[in-house]
Amino acid sequence: MSIADNLAQVRANLAAAGRAAGRDPASVALVAVSKTWPASDVAEAAEAGQRVFGENKVQELLAKAPEAPAGLEWHLIGHLQSNKVRKVLPACALIHSVDSVDLARQISRVAGELGRLVRVLLQVNVASDEAKFGFPVAVVRREFAALAALPNLEIRGFMTVPPYDEDVERTRPHFAALRHLRDELEREHGHALPELSMGMSHDFRVAIEEGATMVRVGSSIFGRRG
Ligand SMILES: *Cc1c(COP(=O)(O)O)cnc(C)c1O
Repeated sequence: MSIADNLAQVRANLAAAGRAAGRDPASVALVAVSKTWPASDVAEAAEAGQRVFGENKVQELLAKAPEAPAGLEWHLIGHLQSNKVRKVLPACALIHSVDSVDLARQISRVAGELGRLVRVLLQVNVASDEAKFGFPVAVVRREFAALAALPNLEIRGFMTVPPYDEDVERTRPHFAALRHLRDELEREHGHALPELSMGMSHDFRVAIEEGATMVRVGSSIFGRRG
């Protein structure tokens, strides 16, 4: 199977999941996660119509994006260290992985210096998994007003990476929890939070059923990582 074939299959599955959930399939964006794969694979996916790509490491994003076709949109989906904010901001359209108040402050500060407004998602550790990055739910509740007040940051919604479970029904409650948290904070703060970035290759169907607006799919498109 070629990357184009895989993409067509993922798009079909995504649309089917959307329809089954009574949602407009166009309301779910596909972020093609190209980590560990070369720019030539990105070019192949772009040739097949894919526009949005996700990387989880700053260095890899910065190295790959200039080698890939122009006109693509790059998202950072992995942990970002404060000292790399300045380098990555010009290269990426959305940061999914803002996971601390300090990092949010640093992004807003640097964005201000660059004269930009930076779109971000807050990563939330809904499953309280010690191995994962993300705001604890209690912290995001407590700090939301302060985060939303940062001048050069536009919080668009939330992202989560639940612990891997072969049984996607055990992952479903984590996706639902993120949606409930979003609904709660949207209501409480009167702040539009339209985006929910959740779901990967093996569990995007249930993520879409639970309201995902962005799914981050790597191995189903590019193949198993070595
Ligand atoms: C690698 C990665 C993905 C994609 O995972 P697949 O199982 O390959 O689809 C999604 N989100 C994040 C944060 C990742 O690091």
